[in-house]
Amino acid sequence: MKALITGGSGFVGSHLAEELLNRGHQVYVIDDLSTGRLENVNHLLSNPNFGIAVETIMNETVMDRLVSECDMIYHLAAAVGVELIVSKPVSVIETNILGSEIVLKLANRYLKKVLITSTSEIYGKSDKVPFGEEDDRVLGPTTKNRWSYSSSKAIDEFLSLAYHKEKKLNVIIVRLFNTVGPRQTGRYGMVIPRMIGQALKNKPLTVYGDGEQVRCFTYVTDVVKAFIGLTDHPGAIGEIFNVGNNQAISIKDLAFKIKQMTNSKSEVIFIPYDKAYEEGFEDMRIRIPNISKIQKFIGFQPKVGLDEILTNVIEFLRNEPEQ
Ligand code: UDP
Repeated sequence: MKALITGGSGFVGSHLAEELLNRGHQVYVIDDLSTGRLENVNHLLSNPNFGIAVETIMNETVMDRLVSECDMIYHLAAAVGVELIVSKPVSVIETNILGSEIVLKLANRYLKKVLITSTSEIYGKSDKVPFGEEDDRVLGPTTKNRWSYSSSKAIDEFLSLAYHKEKKLNVIIVRLFNTVGPRQTGRYGMVIPRMIGQALKNKPLTVYGDGEQVRCFTYVTDVVKAFIGLTDHPGAIGEIFNVGNNQAISIKDLAFKIKQMTNSKSEVIFIPYDKAYEEGFEDMRIRIPNISKIQKFIGFQPKVGLDEILTNVIEFLRNEPEQ
């Protein structure tokens, strides 16, 4: 099989490329290197089954050729990270909506199967625990930037489902819950690489808000296996799946765990959301996935727990401090 991965030089995309190559597939990546890095795929460049175009998915001419030549598309290219959403709202909305529109239109033109990556941000600030795929979305007003990301991804989901219903396009939607692992950068806000980076430099660990907000962290190799399992399963077509680990931790506890595991001298400090992001920023309190659907379909069970995740990311960042 020849897979096209949009955003394939990014954190998740590069791990997916590696796994598909390991399974003997051909992989072609398109990435504009806005948040992706060439270093993530450098080790793949000499593989005859690997190719890359450094280009935006908005370039329809290039995308037309790539989609026509592949067997399946993994659409990962997107503006990610809460900091980016707050600082560059136009490009977040445009990349996420217009980019996915191009991918879906071309997938439909050439009758290619497509996996669309969405996000647990979809559920917004709903206080449901855990989140099931059919649960309501609860969002703040349009004056709060954060909700543009959730809404842009919701449009992607609507459009994907519409293509499936109306044009019988083979599409699968996955909602990711705080995917983490080596190659993820803390530059755009992601808490684990950011706090480990701080701890390794003995700088203060920055907990936003009161630190009682709860997240579940999913290791990237578990996520990649879920993607491949779903695309191999004919029954997954036209469906939405939560992809996550349901082991939960508060951000405050996470900070102290990281401090302890790195033997850091850092202090843990609390920063109000208004200062960390922008005036009036709203966060989700508890975000835990219900993963019974993906378990039922492909027997998905996350293999890597939080301690192993942190050990691996600490080791990665010790070796790549500039990350
Ligand atoms: N966070 C934090 N300190 C940081 C970065 C993030 O306390 O330096 C918090 C953030 O406010 C959120 C959680 O950690 O409550 C997870 O943030 P991340 O950006 O990794 O993912 P999110 O869950 O917001 O998509």
